[in-house]
Amino acid sequence: MSTPQTCRNYINGQWLTAVAGATLESRNPANKREVIATFPRSTGTDVEAAVVAARQAYQIWRLVPAPARAEYVFKVGELLSKYKEELAQLICREMGKPIAEARGDVQEGIDCAFYSAAEGRRLFGQTTPSEMPNKFAMTVRMPIGVCALITPWNFPIAIPCWKAMPALVCGNTVIFKPAEDTPACATKLVEIFAEAGLPPGVMNLVHGVGEEVGKALVAHPHVDLVSFTGSSETGAEVGSICGQTHKRVCLEMGGKNAQIVMEDADLELALDGAVWGAFGTAGQRCTATSRLILHQDIKEKFTAMLKERTSKLRLGAGSDPNTQVGPIINERQLQRISQYLDIARAEGAKVLIGGKIATEGELENGYFFQPTILDEVTPQMRVAQEEIFGPVVALIKVNSFEEAISILNNTKYGLSSSIYTRDINRAFTAMRDIEAGITYINGPTIGAEVHLPFGGVKQTGNGHREAGTTTLDVFTEWKTVYVDF
Ligand code: NAP
Repeated sequence: MSTPQTCRNYINGQWLTAVAGATLESRNPANKREVIATFPRSTGTDVEAAVVAARQAYQIWRLVPAPARAEYVFKVGELLSKYKEELAQLICREMGKPIAEARGDVQEGIDCAFYSAAEGRRLFGQTTPSEMPNKFAMTVRMPIGVCALITPWNFPIAIPCWKAMPALVCGNTVIFKPAEDTPACATKLVEIFAEAGLPPGVMNLVHGVGEEVGKALVAHPHVDLVSFTGSSETGAEVGSICGQTHKRVCLEMGGKNAQIVMEDADLELALDGAVWGAFGTAGQRCTATSRLILHQDIKEKFTAMLKERTSKLRLGAGSDPNTQVGPIINERQLQRISQYLDIARAEGAKVLIGGKIATEGELENGYFFQPTILDEVTPQMRVAQEEIFGPVVALIKVNSFEEAISILNNTKYGLSSSIYTRDINRAFTAMRDIEAGITYINGPTIGAEVHLPFGGVKQTGNGHREAGTTTLDVFTEWKTVYVDF
């Protein structure tokens, strides 16, 4: 067992303990006796110091030409590549996802750094004809100011990178508040930003409890923008506080994503999609497939195929290369999943496989839940409506394509979606009629590419998108300039 890492806040270019001195710890979810890191339980005093530093640095950073700002971000990308394996191993130990997925998490950060760095040479505005003679009109992108980045634990490198890289290239300064469960990953990431030579105060890190540090950042009058990824419940609170002062807020929240399998689908392909969509990252992805909407003609056959494949999935620690499904992040979330199984049973769903906390052998040392299939689920059941965030998939039988789309749309969420069909007319109709930010045709609900917009509709988001050029609209303000001559 290795010695726990001591994490600190990073404020104005210095590594600091919390002023009040209290600390918390993170543990390996595959082995709860292993403490991975201790980290500061920061308070409003630490938040205040970070905001002062970020505000001062902003006045200098906003004047650094965008291509020069981008060079720092490019350097971060190079360092992320250098430390990729170290970071991936750390993700496995602190967050628990299997090593191949952990490498993917870091790779997204690398891709995002290089993609965002290239934007430093673009950040295009427009020139537009004026309706007046001897007048020149154009638009330019202006930075927003101090950005608070509040992130979840499920992609501890990728999600902060998705926010920090464009924020910095656009000329903003950053205060990063990571999830309590992954402070060591956040610390290593910020060490990389520091090694890239960013001027003091441009990137700051404040560890702590969401209700304390997160809330203080959101409410702070000198924080100009909040970019939040997390649950819809927390997002609603963040959004309502920001609404009181009309603070810019970008909310990326939960999902209840569905995969439709029509009677004409390639069932082997749909099976691959369903297994990895439902059980990859132990179902702890915002894009996880938590509902499978199956046409009645293939329902029985597909269910048998899915049950067989699910029964062979290997649970274990993320660091074990044979692991296919890793642990649940913490005890609270493990119990929450367990409670949803009680709800499912009480509502009349049938547990086809799984359904319990896994305790065989070494699994007893961690937080493991058996990959679970719920059959005979009806669209209004809570397990068909609420985000469970675990390896649990609900099967819903339908008689027609129209019914499938209607049931898919029948939740408050709208993040990702998928349909497997060989009928091109159905594929295009689904693309048009599904209410979601992302629709996959013949692919699983999971996955994202850094140059394409990412985000959801309805209660998944508040209209913004991350990644791609669309994220520039989050991190900049448009200014219209008229020049008379
Ligand atoms: P969460 O509990 O909402 O926490 C997210 C972040 O907010 C954490 O850093 C948390 O800090 C902080 N926080 C908690 N209460 C706060 C408050 N009152 N004010 C400000 N910040 C606060 O979510 P999670 O359990 O970490 O993540 C899982 C959720 O994230 C799922 O719903 C998932 O669907 C969603 N998610 C969405 C996307 C997307 O792009 N749409 C991507 C990934 C995950 P603490 O850790 O200290 O509580």
